[in-house]
Amino acid sequence: MMYQNNHLILILLLLFLFHSTCLSFTFQHNNNESSNQTSSLKNQILELANTPNMLKWMKSIRREIHEYPELAYEEFKTSSVIRRELDNLGVVYQWPVAKTGVVAKIGSGFPPFVAIRADMDALPIQELVDWDHKSKVDGKMHACAHDAHSAMLLGAAKILQEMKNKLKGTVVLIFQPAEERGVGAKDMIAENVLEDVEAIFGLHLVTQYPLGVVASRSGEFLAGCGSFKAKINGGKGIHQRCFDPVLAASASVISLQNIVSREIDPLDSQVLSVATVNAGSDSVTFGGTYRAFSKKSFNSLRKRIEEVIKGQVEVHRCAAEVEFFGREHPTIPPTTNDDRIYKLARQASSMIVGEENIKLAPTWTGSEDFAFYMDKVPGAYFLLGIENEKSGSIYSGHSPHFFIDEDVLPIGAAIHAAFALSYSTIS
Ligand SMILES: [Zn+2]
Ligand SMILES: [Zn+2]
Repeated sequence: MMYQNNHLILILLLLFLFHSTCLSFTFQHNNNESSNQTSSLKNQILELANTPNMLKWMKSIRREIHEYPELAYEEFKTSSVIRRELDNLGVVYQWPVAKTGVVAKIGSGFPPFVAIRADMDALPIQELVDWDHKSKVDGKMHACAHDAHSAMLLGAAKILQEMKNKLKGTVVLIFQPAEERGVGAKDMIAENVLEDVEAIFGLHLVTQYPLGVVASRSGEFLAGCGSFKAKINGGKGIHQRCFDPVLAASASVISLQNIVSREIDPLDSQVLSVATVNAGSDSVTFGGTYRAFSKKSFNSLRKRIEEVIKGQVEVHRCAAEVEFFGREHPTIPPTTNDDRIYKLARQASSMIVGEENIKLAPTWTGSEDFAFYMDKVPGAYFLLGIENEKSGSIYSGHSPHFFIDEDVLPIGAAIHAAFALSYSTIS
């Protein structure tokens, strides 16, 4: 996600790695009837999730997708696997949505509508793990678990289809393209996938937590992420003296560094990095990235970047164009969990993995295009641990060594199903 350097590279200040690249809970325990309901729901979900056939089936889907990784908007084979399995389950779906996306529905067809989401795209990474189901496509790999996310959502579809008579409302299962490009969710929303949806849940596998541990937090969770590019044009003054775009750019870069170090509350974490500077004879182009956890800070950071560059450039009597990228390097808002939905998802997860396996996650500087859904409807984004030294599941996402302990698959399927059933049963 760096810019092309066609001219002389003057300064490479910072290479910033992108990851771009997921109520008071109303199962009442104070009366026996709903407590019994909860435990019967839990038992049924776990029973369906924990059969040897379920694990075998989910592994085979995940491996099939893993062998043929597809990048953003190329997920045709992946979505055909998903559609084949939905057909086998007798689940109705809409396709194509946003080119390769699939949207399935299970339940009564009536409100409440609750959505659960998986992403399908892979990364331009050469897999370095030697195993039977290694990527068969050179230079492409599922190194961010989206193969497993798709398999887990299909697992949830299987459980929900078996339990559909328990659903008062309708579960919308969203299989979206292009998460890594940061545009898939936005394009799915543009095709009305959130129509009538009241709440949404997303889950991402991570090696930062042990296998089966669930982590999240209420409110601000993942950072918003954006990038900018400024072009400073020099030119000649009235006495043929040349105004210097290099000086104007240097002053701008130094002033930009002062935004985070001098203007921002140190307890409100924000990042602003100028990552590239290219100088030509008449102009200088520089660019970088910015991140913040709150929407307010994220928007004000963006505003200050433009103000500071334009102000500094004016002092040096040059002209600047500041661009915040669109589709090529999209701006992704912060991922902010709705407190009511967070509590509901926490309780549903606890039902599956046990209270001792629920952790409070710190804020993360990674970004997720799931944030676009949560800009429209209240939702919760959770992490599910896969770390297990014995199975080699120790490398973080986007590593060519990334490897998943597949025992997580039924756990993820059950959490999705528990969330959807909890929402629909209680409303
Ligand atoms: Zn990723
Ligand atoms: Zn991911």
